[in-house]
Amino acid sequence: MSINLSKVASQKKIKYFLISFVDLFGVLRAKLVPTQAIAEMQKNGAGFAGFATYLDMSPADSDMLAMPDPKSLIQLPWQPEVGWLASDLVMDGKIVEQCPRVVLKRQIEKLNEKNMVMQTGVECEFFLLSEDGTEVDDKRDTAAKPCYDQSTLMRRYDVIKEICDSMLKLGWKPYQNDHEDANGQFEMNWNYADCLTTADRHVFFKFMVKSIAEKHGLRATFMPKPFPDLTGNGCHVHVSIWDQKKKKNLFLDENGELGLSKLGYSFIGGIMKSADCFSAWFNPSLNSFGRIDASNTLSGATWSPSTVTYTGNNRTHMVRIPDAGRFEVRHADGSANPYLLQAGMLGLGLDGINNKRSPGKRLDINMYTQGHKLKRVKKLPKTLDKALKLFKESKVAKNAFGSSVVSKYIKLKNRELKEYDKQPEGQKSEWSRNNAIDC
Ligand SMILES: [Mg+2]
Repeated sequence: MSINLSKVASQKKIKYFLISFVDLFGVLRAKLVPTQAIAEMQKNGAGFAGFATYLDMSPADSDMLAMPDPKSLIQLPWQPEVGWLASDLVMDGKIVEQCPRVVLKRQIEKLNEKNMVMQTGVECEFFLLSEDGTEVDDKRDTAAKPCYDQSTLMRRYDVIKEICDSMLKLGWKPYQNDHEDANGQFEMNWNYADCLTTADRHVFFKFMVKSIAEKHGLRATFMPKPFPDLTGNGCHVHVSIWDQKKKKNLFLDENGELGLSKLGYSFIGGIMKSADCFSAWFNPSLNSFGRIDASNTLSGATWSPSTVTYTGNNRTHMVRIPDAGRFEVRHADGSANPYLLQAGMLGLGLDGINNKRSPGKRLDINMYTQGHKLKRVKKLPKTLDKALKLFKESKVAKNAFGSSVVSKYIKLKNRELKEYDKQPEGQKSEWSRNNAIDC
């Protein structure tokens, strides 16, 4: 049954639609369309000049059309007369393969051929800063170990409650909110879902947090490392693979090591083989490498990996198996493009599954204190430049996303690196901070 957006608009009293898409750098772009025009837009799409966004296009290209996915509709909880729609991009009658939502859908199709679906949850950490984004807004939030601090959490009750109420209303099943490990840092968790739904919600969540924070006179940021001496914003992903009906968790095996099936270990095998090469997707900003390559923080830990290792219930490694039937990947940060993040997970996982890759032996050491003793351990790249080089050489990446998507992404990112290089030495860090603050 196709959904008629015109009808939905009159039922839900929607006056405007945001027909939106996310470009390769994760920027959320949109046109605001009155309901009188939505029938036409649903049929023919909303027009954009692709070159004006972070997509590899030319000013001479035809109009790029955003075709809204009616199933993605979210009524803005804080502005219910506006409905948000995620879109796939089309140009000259053809799907735009570099559109991040399409990149993810291509990976999902490959998994569907195996009668499997990936379900994921994301943990999107963020900071609440002063309006100009330069400092933590709550002047009393200065403790060296502020994680889970009840008073600092409750001083931001108005903002957190409004966001959590919104998620409750949208049916996302949020279940906990806390103050995180850095001053000014928070995390809000909602239920896992199929990875396309999670990616759409992830995009919307960032928009929602920023919008609601703004209403309260604050600046929310998901940038990976707002302050060098404080813990950064991770974006941990919890992964499990299910049968097509989402009834059976195929990662669950009571007899498997730590309750994880062979399929689960093959998926981790794919991650162990190529995670370093995928840093360019999971840690896509210059600011990302302040988090990955961090020295210790005020709280005593960075909570971020710097090597490619896996473990049981131990947060000092890149992949953690906290529980039977799932694992957590702690590689990505807040600047990761929500669609490319999920597509990257699937790209790695499919490579592991198809090639029955072994993840090697699990490590149970404290990586932060004992990691340096390991002789042969794969390290994550420490700069964006290195990350892009690894990504360019990765056969797994090309096999997953196609050479064209990989080279377009690298081309645009290299352009950003060139801009960075042009900045005077004293302004480089401020330039990369400004570039990431609204990621
Ligand atoms: Mg966290």
